[in-house]
Amino acid sequence: MAKTRMTRQRKVILQTLQGLTSHPTADEIYGLVREKLPRISLGTVYRNLDLLTGSGQILCLDRVGAQKHFDGDTRRHHHVRCRVCGKIGDVFSPVADIPLPEGPVPGFSLQEADLIFVGVCGECGGSADICGKK
Ligand SMILES: [Zn+2]
Ligand SMILES: [Zn+2]
Repeated sequence: MAKTRMTRQRKVILQTLQGLTSHPTADEIYGLVREKLPRISLGTVYRNLDLLTGSGQILCLDRVGAQKHFDGDTRRHHHVRCRVCGKIGDVFSPVADIPLPEGPVPGFSLQEADLIFVGVCGECGGSADICGKK
C-alpha cells in the first residue's frame, strides 16, 4: 500500500516538473505538488526528486543559482540565467564543449566545464547594468 502511494507521488512530481519550463527549486515543486497531494511532505518531495534524478528522468541543476533547480526536460541543453531576478531559461542551440585548461589548476582537481549564459529576461526589461542593479 505504501509503495503504491510512493509511486503515485513520484508520478505527480514528475508530471508537474515536465509541465513546467521554469526550472523550479525543490521548495517550489513542493508548493505545486501540494495542490494535488495536500498531505505530501517536503521530505517526500526531496526524496522523490533524488530518485528521479538518479534514474535520469529529470535533471538536477546545482550550478545555476544558490539552490538546486530541477528540470523535467532531459534533452541535452544549456541554461541562461537572468542576472536581475535569477530566472532560468533553456538554450537549445548547440554549443561546443568548453575544453578544460591544459595546465594544472593549483588546489583543484577539475572535473568538467559547465556553461551558463547570463542575460536579462523579458520581465526584467533588459535595462539592467552589469552589476544587476537598475
Ligand atoms: Zn529577470
Ligand atoms: Zn533546462
